[in-house]
Amino acid sequence: LRLNSVYIKGFKSFAMPTRFEVSSGMTAVVGPNGSGKSNVVDAIRWIFGEQSMKNIRADSREDVIFNGSERFPPSNSAEVKLVFESEEGIFSIAREISRDGQSSYKVNDKQSRLKDIKELFQGTGVGMDIYSIVGQGQVDKVVTASPYELRALIEEAAGTAVYKERKKEALGKLAATEENLSRLEDIIFELG
Ligand code: ATP
Repeated sequence: LRLNSVYIKGFKSFAMPTRFEVSSGMTAVVGPNGSGKSNVVDAIRWIFGEQSMKNIRADSREDVIFNGSERFPPSNSAEVKLVFESEEGIFSIAREISRDGQSSYKVNDKQSRLKDIKELFQGTGVGMDIYSIVGQGQVDKVVTASPYELRALIEEAAGTAVYKERKKEALGKLAATEENLSRLEDIIFELG
């Protein structure tokens, strides 16, 4: 799985539609302090559903929308789109929010849920809150992680986290079905 390009429009300091092509090998983003380098990483965290405003250095949900500068008026919405290349081909994911409270996620330009995006990337090591984005100070966090946290990291890397999640869902369904069955048995008993 490879990130091919990043498209940002109206997100934080990106007033104008901006597209970065990510070529193979190592890519570095350079620029003066405060020019928006970390905002690119914030955009990537945000698209994977980052709910913690602190992690993307914003005070509120709307805070990620470009709030105007001397040259440009504030934007009405923020949009980020990532294009990936996998063995199966090229696909994209996108997230957009507007000031009036609308919010959407897309996979290949079709309306989707955050859950769909998370499932798509489960086991790949890409996404929020995992090792694909190593923020400032996070190396310390791995070094001092509890055995439980380290295990979660290894499970994600090994691709087994996806099965753990499915097992949890299946067990939930099983419990609900057992409850229905027991209710049915009661009804049958009462009728009989
Ligand atoms: P450093 O090298 O100091 O870490 P950086 O290049 O990583 O800086 P960022 O922290 O990504 O820079 O960008 C900070 C800039 O983004 C600030 O100038 C800030 O005003 C701007 N910014 C953040 N949110 C918004 C917003 N909603 N609208 C407009 N500009 C914003």
